[in-house]
Amino acid sequence: MRLILLGPAGAGKGTQAERLVARFKIPHVSTGDILRAAVANETEVGKLAREHMESGGLVPDAVVLGVMREWLASKEATDGYVLDGFPRTVPQAEALEGILRDHPPGLNAAVLVDVPDQVILERLSVRWSCPKCGLVYSAAASNRPKNVGYCDRDGTALQQRGDDSPAVIRHRLDVYREQTAPLIGFYESRNLLKRIDGVGTPDEIEERILKEIS
Ligand code: AMP
Repeated sequence: MRLILLGPAGAGKGTQAERLVARFKIPHVSTGDILRAAVANETEVGKLAREHMESGGLVPDAVVLGVMREWLASKEATDGYVLDGFPRTVPQAEALEGILRDHPPGLNAAVLVDVPDQVILERLSVRWSCPKCGLVYSAAASNRPKNVGYCDRDGTALQQRGDDSPAVIRHRLDVYREQTAPLIGFYESRNLLKRIDGVGTPDEIEERILKEIS
């Protein structure tokens, strides 16, 4: 199973990716998580990515592609994966096509998790995540941590992401519309696009995805 999850920040891609990897026993690759770790560890990639991430803009294609080319050629990638947050631009999608020609088979589907902007703004302003394992929590009863403020999985104190402030969220949504939304047509033209209504409980959305990709 080789899947791409498309959709704006806060669409629930990370939550659904976690469920898909548990079901299909394949790795979950989030370029956002990889880049945040690089920034935290002050690596060369992190230094190139930091400012772009803080402002809610995109990290240059060359930097992201450098990271993903290496991962997609690694042993970890051989039995499938869920790509979350990559590709994010048409040049990234074209590069991914080229990489998959060298490392077949190709993608099974590009799943678009569709959510209106207003819902995104509401969701992201109450999104907390675990800095250690990346698990994401929200204010929804189905997705609150059992122990308020701490991760269910490892007990680490939860944090709100710096780029989840209202002004940065708005900018990220504009960037999504301008640079990432063109991927909808890109994958539609390749008969890979599966459009999912992303409003509902995580269980409902998972069910919709499974129905589309089965
Ligand atoms: P995310 O966790 O997916 O919301 O990503 C957080 C931030 O990382 C984004 O706002 C971008 O600055 C950067 N980022 C993540 N993935 C990519 C990508 N594929 N291309 C460019 N920038 C990315």
